Amino acid sequence: MKCLHLRSYSMFSVLAVATQVLISVNLIAKTVDAQNLTPQEKVHQIRIPGDILLGGVFPVHTKTSDGEDPCGEIAEMSGVHRVEAMLYALDKINEQKDFLNGYKLGALILDSCSDPSYALNQSLELVRDMIGRSDASSYVCKNNTPQQMNRDRKNVAAVVGESYSSISVQLANLLQLFRIAQVSPASTSSDLSDKSRFKFFARTVPSDYYQAKAMADIAAKFGWTYVSLVYSADEYGQLGADAFKNEARKKGICIAVEERIHNKQESFIESIDNLMEKLQPEDSVGARVVVLFVGTEYIPQLLHYTTEKMNLTTSSEYNEKKLIWMASESWDRNNAKYTEGVNQLAAEGAIVLMLASQKVPDFNEYFLNLHPGSDKFERNQWLRELWQVKFKCEFGGPQESSVNRCEDIRQSSEGFSVNDKVRYVINAVYAIAHALQAYKSTACGNDTMESNLFSQPSQEPEICQAMQNIDRTEFYNNYLLKVNFEDVVGRNFHFSPQGDGPANYTILTYKPKNMHQKMGQESDPAPVTGSTAKPGSGASPASDYIELGYWLENNLIIDEKALWWAGEATPISICSEPCPVGYRKQNIKNEQCCWACIRCEDFEYLVNEAYCVPCDMGWWPTEDRTSCYDMSRTNLEYMQWSSMYSIVPAIIAAIGIVLTLFTIVIFIL
Ligand code: GLU
Repeated sequence: MKCLHLRSYSMFSVLAVATQVLISVNLIAKTVDAQNLTPQEKVHQIRIPGDILLGGVFPVHTKTSDGEDPCGEIAEMSGVHRVEAMLYALDKINEQKDFLNGYKLGALILDSCSDPSYALNQSLELVRDMIGRSDASSYVCKNNTPQQMNRDRKNVAAVVGESYSSISVQLANLLQLFRIAQVSPASTSSDLSDKSRFKFFARTVPSDYYQAKAMADIAAKFGWTYVSLVYSADEYGQLGADAFKNEARKKGICIAVEERIHNKQESFIESIDNLMEKLQPEDSVGARVVVLFVGTEYIPQLLHYTTEKMNLTTSSEYNEKKLIWMASESWDRNNAKYTEGVNQLAAEGAIVLMLASQKVPDFNEYFLNLHPGSDKFERNQWLRELWQVKFKCEFGGPQESSVNRCEDIRQSSEGFSVNDKVRYVINAVYAIAHALQAYKSTACGNDTMESNLFSQPSQEPEICQAMQNIDRTEFYNNYLLKVNFEDVVGRNFHFSPQGDGPANYTILTYKPKNMHQKMGQESDPAPVTGSTAKPGSGASPASDYIELGYWLENNLIIDEKALWWAGEATPISICSEPCPVGYRKQNIKNEQCCWACIRCEDFEYLVNEAYCVPCDMGWWPTEDRTSCYDMSRTNLEYMQWSSMYSIVPAIIAAIGIVLTLFTIVIFIL
């Protein structure tokens, strides 16, 4: 009997249920919200119904370091904007009737709270239905064959996420157990290109191997041969720092100070203290350029402490600055916290890499149109929390009450900018959709949702069997990695053989226009007037960043006029000044970038920068001390045939010889 084998599932189902109970208990224990929202307002996942389900994992909340509560404050830029970018892309795909033949894409989106272990816990939700399949209770015996009862339970076809490399690594390890394809829109750690470890991972962003190359190229271009390196103690920071060290070595750049930072408050402050002490920013030479490979969340604090340590004041000019940051793409130019208050002093003059990104104007409009009460607003519960926190308002207050009613507040377009990686999230969703479309046309032919619905009007539309049980290895290798399409901004997109996106970067510099006026002002909470509101005042933080150039396909292009030191001397970041003529370099501590200058003897010349060699006997060093010359040749004085002193005696001698010969001839005759 076919139904008998259901019994063999029971042991496993008990285990599966037990695991799920444990997970749920764990999650409930951890769901204390940072913004003191009521339990109803705490959201950990959102579900959008559809025929085919895509998973999504995003850092909607920041991580807290207090241990008990994993979720901190809501992250508007890297969290909510990216979730909305995924929903926006799904809407766009679902709107196209001919795309996927009417199959609708749904989503199950989870919050990672920027914490790898919490994210892993949450992500079990993505595979729960796959474990749950073995649960006998979800089957009924019909005509002697087991049939699944709940048709709403769908496996996720693929997952978009996560942003942070440290979380993507964990997620990839989990998803590959179930052979679920994962497409990250932001994780750049070079490890993730290793196909032997991450068999189902792809990303729309490039590997940090290229970013490290670009940073080393910038340093070499400006002659910064001695730099410091600060990185976060995670997959992103550590591997990024390793890649940079590798590239720097190839270009003869030395690392002066290396500092690894953790997000624990005490060790964080200790690291900054260390950095400042070792850098000795008062010296005329030193590693003034600090390469940053740290997670997004560390940067505001890093800037804050360095301002304090360096006693920066508003009067400091750019070129008096002791440190110049050269930051990787995790530096978020749209995040106001980076340049709020004193942080602006430290951030000033920073050189920042950004993944080449074009704005998606439609998305800006889409986001600005989200408002309480609309369907698109209500489907994403995190928007409610964002409204409450950002606009300091309350939902459900009476119309005439004095408290700010969130229902009345609209996001203003003034000073609004979206996260720079929105395009990469949209590309990730489109890549999966294109792969599904290709898979579907091979596996299900011309099957459409409408035709199914039409042929079986009494039943729920059924999606093609092959789409319910996708061959996941085939899907990843032969469909997902092979997609090739025009993205939302009209650029062609395809994955590299390692499953990475194209390596193009834009180089920016932070040059605030109104620094001195801003410094005197307090950062007041957002004024909320009428029906639109904006946090802070004035233009978006991104408007203070100037484009310096590009790093495209291994080529660095810099617009010299856009540099903040344009027209003045390039700031230096070297260990030792070049030696004067006649001095040799003696390396200190085996460092190729640090040396003492030792005087060569007067009779010595330099065979190379480090060796003085005496000239041969009768030879003397040339003026530039690069060779010797023969003294006898230059100092010997001899008569010239053309001189009067030669001509007169020669004529007299010739006359004498003629007279002598004449006398001899006369005598003989
Ligand atoms: N590239 C970063 C990482 O791999 C994430 C940056 C971001 O989310 O903007 O961890």
